[in-house]
Amino acid sequence: MRLKVIYLVVISSLLLAPFATADVRHEINIPDILGYKTLKCDFHIHTVFSDGTVWPTVRVDEAWREGLDAISITEHIERPHPHKEDIPINHNRSYEIALPRTKEKRILLIKGAENTRDTPPGHFNSIFLEDINPLDTEDLVDAIKAANNQGAFVFWNHPGWKPEHKGWFDIHTKLYENKWLHGIEVVNGKSYYPEAHEWCLEKNLTMLGASDAHEPIVGTEITPENHRPMTLVFAKEKSIKAIREALIAGRTVVWFENQLIGRPNYLRAIFMTAVQIHKPHHRQDDTIWFEVTNNSDIDIQMQRLGEDRPEKLTLLANAITIVKTKINGKAKRAELKYQLTNFLVAPDKGLQVNLIIRLR
Ligand SMILES: [Zn+2]
Ligand SMILES: [Zn+2]
Repeated sequence: MRLKVIYLVVISSLLLAPFATADVRHEINIPDILGYKTLKCDFHIHTVFSDGTVWPTVRVDEAWREGLDAISITEHIERPHPHKEDIPINHNRSYEIALPRTKEKRILLIKGAENTRDTPPGHFNSIFLEDINPLDTEDLVDAIKAANNQGAFVFWNHPGWKPEHKGWFDIHTKLYENKWLHGIEVVNGKSYYPEAHEWCLEKNLTMLGASDAHEPIVGTEITPENHRPMTLVFAKEKSIKAIREALIAGRTVVWFENQLIGRPNYLRAIFMTAVQIHKPHHRQDDTIWFEVTNNSDIDIQMQRLGEDRPEKLTLLANAITIVKTKINGKAKRAELKYQLTNFLVAPDKGLQVNLIIRLR
């Protein structure tokens, strides 16, 4: 009898174990906009199949825990392969190993790879591939062409990685003019590249932000400042096909530390959807108090424009802020102009917004 009891206890704790561990998803709160789903994506990650230090399935688990919707594991096709004595080089293998886990974890996995050359030209990711082997070529141009033949979306990685070599070279013009280059990483890991941001604006290329993770992403608290850099993709639905369509159309914003980097229409739509301005709840002579709700994971930093004494305002993430301001006593509504200093529409240029407050 006693043995039976112990047996039952062991069985029940085994059954409970998967639910008791800290495998919990942290959902990212950045709203859907303009009729699109805002998908949280990281299209640049490594595993032990190139120079990373984790097994492919771990990348899927990490992505799920951090609230991502889609990832691409992009191993170096060429060097470095520090684990080649232990793990044979097989360009498609990390995708094949990770894929079954994505079904368990509701993550979209996009097949990709990184062509790795000295700068210039530098490193390039191709994603939405069917087979990575045709990208293993002598000449980089042949590899990028092979990727395009498979309908890939191709982007230039960390263009400011080696400052002594940075710049836009003839090879980039060649890829761009052939329409074989579709985007650039404006953010990679802990770096933001203002020149890449400018190139995306000038040449109408898609802006991307990625972790380029090589080490395990371990569980520190996720805050507005502390999270994996990622590309927000505005897609018609949560599917690989819809992500591809959105990337080709340039519908992205980069979330990097406590900054959003992207085109004004998308940044404005995020602000307008996340932020709600309430009617003043108190008034004394020509001063009003009103609440502003920020329903997003971004601390929105605002700088007043067109005033003698500019005031700074931070709308904390997922919180309500009370704003006190002077108004023209007879007006039916007040219009306050702000620059959002952490919504970057160009290097060092924040998005301008008008807050309209109804007074009656
Ligand atoms: Zn690289
Ligand atoms: Zn890389």
